[in-house]
Amino acid sequence: MNMASEKYRIDPKATEWVTRGHGVFVDGELSHGNGEVLAVIDPATGEQIGTVAAASIAETDRAVAAARKAFDDGRWRLMDSDQRSQVMWRLAELIARDGEALAATEVLDNGMPLPFAQWEVDAMGKWLRHFAGMTRTITGSNASQAMSSEAAEFHAYSRKEPVGVAALIVPWNAPAGNLTIKLAPALAAGCSVVIKPAEDTSVSALRIAELAKEAGVPDGVINIVTGRGHDIGAHLVWHPDVDKISFTGSTDTGRRIAASAGHDLKRITLELGGKSPVMVFDDCDVETAIPQVAMAIFANTGQVCFAGSRLFVQSGVYDRIIEGVAEFAKGLTVGSGFEEGVLLGPLISSKQLDRVTEFLASGKQCGASVVTGGEAISGGGYFVEPTVFANVDADAQIAREEIFGPVLVANRIDDESEMLRLANDTRYGLGAGIFTRDVGRLHRLAARLQAGNVWANCYGNVHPTLPFGGFKESGIGREMSNEGLDAFLETKSVYVDVTAR
Ligand code: NAD
Repeated sequence: MNMASEKYRIDPKATEWVTRGHGVFVDGELSHGNGEVLAVIDPATGEQIGTVAAASIAETDRAVAAARKAFDDGRWRLMDSDQRSQVMWRLAELIARDGEALAATEVLDNGMPLPFAQWEVDAMGKWLRHFAGMTRTITGSNASQAMSSEAAEFHAYSRKEPVGVAALIVPWNAPAGNLTIKLAPALAAGCSVVIKPAEDTSVSALRIAELAKEAGVPDGVINIVTGRGHDIGAHLVWHPDVDKISFTGSTDTGRRIAASAGHDLKRITLELGGKSPVMVFDDCDVETAIPQVAMAIFANTGQVCFAGSRLFVQSGVYDRIIEGVAEFAKGLTVGSGFEEGVLLGPLISSKQLDRVTEFLASGKQCGASVVTGGEAISGGGYFVEPTVFANVDADAQIAREEIFGPVLVANRIDDESEMLRLANDTRYGLGAGIFTRDVGRLHRLAARLQAGNVWANCYGNVHPTLPFGGFKESGIGREMSNEGLDAFLETKSVYVDVTAR
């Protein structure tokens, strides 16, 4: 184990999970796989702190076969809905029991600040309990009366049935949370799953699978294969025994997955990238807006799909907002996620650091002014300064592409229609923020913004009762809410002529 465990008091369970090397969970058993290993790197130091076995194609086939068998014999989908709900509730309790260790695992594996990891673990419990309750709400509709007449009498109804074996493919930016958003509705629907965590962050998923077993999820219902996206992930998407793909990740990968899944018309849910606008008007409460606008981009070091990365501000408050956000950025303590008071952790990997650094260089080259930040931070780990660029051309690379780092692109715009046009001038459509006290404007803009989530005088709230997802190239389908559950269900209509003999 690395310096982190010596320097900070880390739950020993977390260090044990990170170092034990398992990488495959098939039919209720953890194993070391039989091939390549993936390094577990602490992003705060760049040091290797463990390894995770990568699954082979043969193990991936075994995982799909286990999920298929569990689905076909009905050990989970045919379990009484109340009992299924209790098992899911129990999983939420076990996640809470191991909450500190799970949060520490996320910090070690992903680098996120501990308070964010604690929030994530807490949210996982809430989402699981929410969908545990929904196991009892899965019902179809009854059309018997509407169809029956003097001439014919029908018993006609629809049924909701689990879609089958679902592949859950998740990214690294909030590994356990992004997994739970998929796993909870999949389990509630009665699906069996094969999970493919991101190659940089596999540890928490493996632990969640063990906890699910302890909670009473039957073997074979949850399987995990670690490994690279282009082979293990692509193989899962291609696999004829997989019925549904639920993917969170980049838009480019989403495009490849949609093309491959289209071959046999698998059901797909895609949660993809974003370049979300935040609009600030003269009449806003500046003191409320500043920290919200800042954390919209700096939370989780900008590695958030709905990060508010494009800022448009009216002239009357422009200087105060830009200076306020810059001061907020300078005041952020940057460091290991375990360090007291740290709100800005490292980026996930050296690859991501290189990517963000290239965007910083591109921002300087395109003539934008650097209000604050603009540099990588040397001295070990994958740290970069929280950065604000101002006066950025709308066609500049930093204004158009998802950076996935703590980099804000700001512009002064006075006219509301022009601000709206610019806000919508992107191929993405995941989130949007509005800061104004004018209620009419707020609803007018909310209706016109091309985004799946609009936050007004707040930013980034996600609740399981409301759908989450994107317009345009930010995705297909929705997670959370009834829609998130529906994404793991098929609908069947049944017509019975009850007069037939
Ligand atoms: P990524 O697309 O590189 O990888 C995501 C996952 O897909 C990983 O598990 C990876 O191994 C796998 N994968 C890669 N290629 C694959 C292929 N050809 N077939 C099947 N699986 C494949 O994304 P990332 O870099 O891990 O994550 C960052 C991206 O995720 C950002 O674009 C971010 O916006 C997006 N994201 C979106 C949401 C959302 O809800 N909309 C949430 C979090 C992250």
